[in-house]
Amino acid sequence: MTRRAFELPVLHEPHRGDGAVDHAKAAAAFLADEPRADWHDGALWWVREKRDRAAQALPEWETLRTLASAIKEHTLSRLDEYLERFEANATRNGITVHWARDADEHNRIVHGILAAAGATRLVKSKSMLTEECGLNPYLEARGVEVIDTDLGERIVQLRGEAPSHIVLPAIHLKKEDVGDTFHEFLGTPKGLADPSALAQAAREHLRAKFLAADAALTGANFVVAETGGFVVCTNEGNADLGAALAPVHVASIGIEKLVPRAADLAVFLRLLTRSATGQPVTVYTSHVHGPREGQALHVVLVDNGRSTQLGREGFWRSLKCIRCGACMNTCPIYRRSGGHSYDSTVPGPIGSVLTPGLDLERYATLPFASTLCGSCTAVCPVKIDLDAQLYRWRQLVVAAGHAPTGKAVAMHGAGRLLARPRWLRAAGAIARVGLRLMPRRVARLAAGAWGHARDLPPPPAHSFHAWYRAHRRDGGRPNA
Ligand code: SF4
Repeated sequence: MTRRAFELPVLHEPHRGDGAVDHAKAAAAFLADEPRADWHDGALWWVREKRDRAAQALPEWETLRTLASAIKEHTLSRLDEYLERFEANATRNGITVHWARDADEHNRIVHGILAAAGATRLVKSKSMLTEECGLNPYLEARGVEVIDTDLGERIVQLRGEAPSHIVLPAIHLKKEDVGDTFHEFLGTPKGLADPSALAQAAREHLRAKFLAADAALTGANFVVAETGGFVVCTNEGNADLGAALAPVHVASIGIEKLVPRAADLAVFLRLLTRSATGQPVTVYTSHVHGPREGQALHVVLVDNGRSTQLGREGFWRSLKCIRCGACMNTCPIYRRSGGHSYDSTVPGPIGSVLTPGLDLERYATLPFASTLCGSCTAVCPVKIDLDAQLYRWRQLVVAAGHAPTGKAVAMHGAGRLLARPRWLRAAGAIARVGLRLMPRRVARLAAGAWGHARDLPPPPAHSFHAWYRAHRRDGGRPNA
């Protein structure tokens, strides 16, 4: 796997909706329910603050981030070698390793494994990769019952929705929404909104599914080349229960999850959960090194556009991501627009960096769903330069002609205006008069959707240029 020149587009993600994603429009729909938007914002900020406290409690936090970044960059620069080393060691451990070029091949491989084993009931623990590949509808269309067993994932699955966050898939829902969903699908009493009672109902419902399953599918947080094993982190133990009970275990894993040595896990496991939820460690951190007796264990290593991203100068570092979700929790746009407004498997800042590489035209608005404040970069445990990559995507969106026509015309006009000082002075004088007479209309015209809810400050009487000329000691004589 070698670095290649930048190339576009490669479509590997099944479209979740039709047509281009209009992030601003979807965000406006989310914001229409103001109390819910405020609650969503506050809930994620609370998680961000927990992350801060956990990070600040470790004096070596920044050293860990630097180490994690270096390990990932090293691994990505030799990914082909490490993948082959993993395959050799995993095979030695009794694991059957498969390679999937794209989502379709991944789905066909998984279905083939299940069909060969006669499995028709699959329990799945949280795996954003299978969301990315559209595995559930693929298997369901072929007669396989797929049950997501992570509580948040099961809630959104029952509602027919996609997860809105990679770590907290149902963060857009309140406990009352969960109560309504469980009442409709699990027969709990109407109006039940007590979290313990809802969790108990979910436990009973899922336990029956675990016991009846004839195959389990998990993802993996880390894959270790040196040992041929992989690590799954959950708080609910659902991955472990599924894999421990079912006669067939399939692990679907993106090729970027590699780390070279078992010792590297000591760095990543300390960063992952602190960054994700502020916990020192996940409740279950399971190391899988081979099948238990009588069980078949398959690992499907999935590319699906990753080697293309690896070949993109300026974007390959996005593959360092360990999917902690911290960049989402801190992002003022994500918190105020909700995960569904991105219409991509991975939302938020990292999603807006990864997804345009799949289909630039369709996802052209996502790199603009950011204030470029850099908060995402500041919290990222593997030091991905997210804001710089978002800015780079914006340049590519514009160069490819996918910027909205209004914005492209405005930027072209602004370029011509800024290059002509006299025109600029005249436009400034007109704008100052306009702002005095019709402040709201000018704000909307000048700042688009951003200006709808904001007042611009009162305009100064004169331009800075005029003020400067008047106050220069030399009276503004040219070349004095
Ligand atoms: S980009 Fe960084 S902060 Fe965002 S999910 Fe990935 S590792 Fe976490």
